[in-house]
Amino acid sequence: MTRVSRWTWSGIAVVVVVSVGVLAQAQQQPLVDAAGEVRESAYDHLRRALAGEDRVYQDIDGPQLKGWLNDVVAISRQSRDDGNRYWGRISGTQYEVMTADWTEQHFRRLGLEDIHRVDFDLRPQWFPVDWELTASGGGQQLSFASANPATGSRSFPEGIEAEAVWVGLGTAADFAGRDVAGKAVIIQTILAPGQMGNSASWEGATIRAEEGGAALIVGVWGYGGNLAVWQSTNAFQMVRNDDGTSRYVNQRVGTPGFFMGFEDGRTLRDLVATGKPVTISGRIETETREGLVSPSVYGTLPGTTDETIYVMAHMDGYYDAALDNASGMAVMIGLAEHFAKVPLEQRRRSITFIGTAGHHVGSPNAPYLRDQGMLEKTALLLNCEHIAPTQFIAFNNELRLTNTVSPRRWWVHGSQQLLDITLDAYRTFGVTVIGEMDGRATGEMMSIDKDAPSVQLIRSPEHKHTDGDIPGLVPAAGLEAVARAFAKIIDGVNGLDLAALQAAPMRSSR
Ligand SMILES: [Zn+2]
Repeated sequence: MTRVSRWTWSGIAVVVVVSVGVLAQAQQQPLVDAAGEVRESAYDHLRRALAGEDRVYQDIDGPQLKGWLNDVVAISRQSRDDGNRYWGRISGTQYEVMTADWTEQHFRRLGLEDIHRVDFDLRPQWFPVDWELTASGGGQQLSFASANPATGSRSFPEGIEAEAVWVGLGTAADFAGRDVAGKAVIIQTILAPGQMGNSASWEGATIRAEEGGAALIVGVWGYGGNLAVWQSTNAFQMVRNDDGTSRYVNQRVGTPGFFMGFEDGRTLRDLVATGKPVTISGRIETETREGLVSPSVYGTLPGTTDETIYVMAHMDGYYDAALDNASGMAVMIGLAEHFAKVPLEQRRRSITFIGTAGHHVGSPNAPYLRDQGMLEKTALLLNCEHIAPTQFIAFNNELRLTNTVSPRRWWVHGSQQLLDITLDAYRTFGVTVIGEMDGRATGEMMSIDKDAPSVQLIRSPEHKHTDGDIPGLVPAAGLEAVARAFAKIIDGVNGLDLAALQAAPMRSSR
């Protein structure tokens, strides 16, 4: 039932009351189950009856895709049950290797060829091992279940104790006239779609705290729920260039920090609001692990030419990482299964499926493909990432779930025909997207997105990298729609020669 508290106004302390309320309501809640999650059947309106040649995609089945997603999530939960506080399919851990094993088993089951791994050495990795954050004042003592160390925060097992100072959004106006030296600076950070988008980062609030000599930064995450997040205090700001264009600048902030969920932050804010002195005590113990390896898994369905299509999905993730990226992995396996049934003589191009390594620690697989010269005769790069998140609506101070899938960022690099094929497939299966094509929506494809014709669809929702990235927020109907659309794109691409797929500048550069 803690899952309920993650999404509603009610905090942990009243969870029993809330649970009873939710259960009592369940009879009158046709779209929501007893756990407070929207039922799979509530998304049925997203499913399309297949007509004509699209009936070939009937075998790509949402509930089956969802089953694979759940298999991948189970690996994360094992890491939690093994006692890791920093849990999930964390890169460099045995749980990432188990995810690679799972992927390889499916590749073998489907009869893919040239199944092999490419391992990447990771630079020394930051691992938080144990931590604690409390506040006390006016005879009250608070602890914060959702508090996590800021990603990359330095280790201070001896602890820091500092006077709390609330700076609101932490803009220059909030800091004006405030002395934060040696203090624990609490910043309310507002989310934008995408985990990089939070106001403490883009407003430079954490930089101000550091420049003011703060001893500790405490970020309060978001506008509802009580999500525990892995997020750094670094500032990621848009800077205007002289010519009117803009660029993003990432500035490192070294002051140790925590993030906590909105509900926990509200109790802390209320304590500060009493006007009595509030002391914050924090302790973070981290390890730097060296010599770690992150695996990628390859498997190929041969075709009848020497041209290739790559379908990739990253394997690592935080917490359940149901959307990010069990959803992409499930869709990749669904595509492998679908095309494995197509007779070899009908497969124009080979399709190489890749479970990729270490996305959250640098995505080494993308430059590897380029460096190995593997993109030369590539008809399509298709990245499966953050496929189908439930849209939620901020309603006053609640995060309310809906029965629709959030529109996604998207990107096509290639010819007008490739663009037409892609948008036709999205239209056919009801895959919603943000209006503007977004050249930064490259995800795991990273810098190779223009080395070959490429298609990308991704949504990084507000609960990315939090304990709210759960299977209940990735509907089967949404997975099915995207997997079928991707299959249709691959078939469309195989109806065209390489030159007809490539973007004009690529052709002229040859
Ligand atoms: Zn991802």
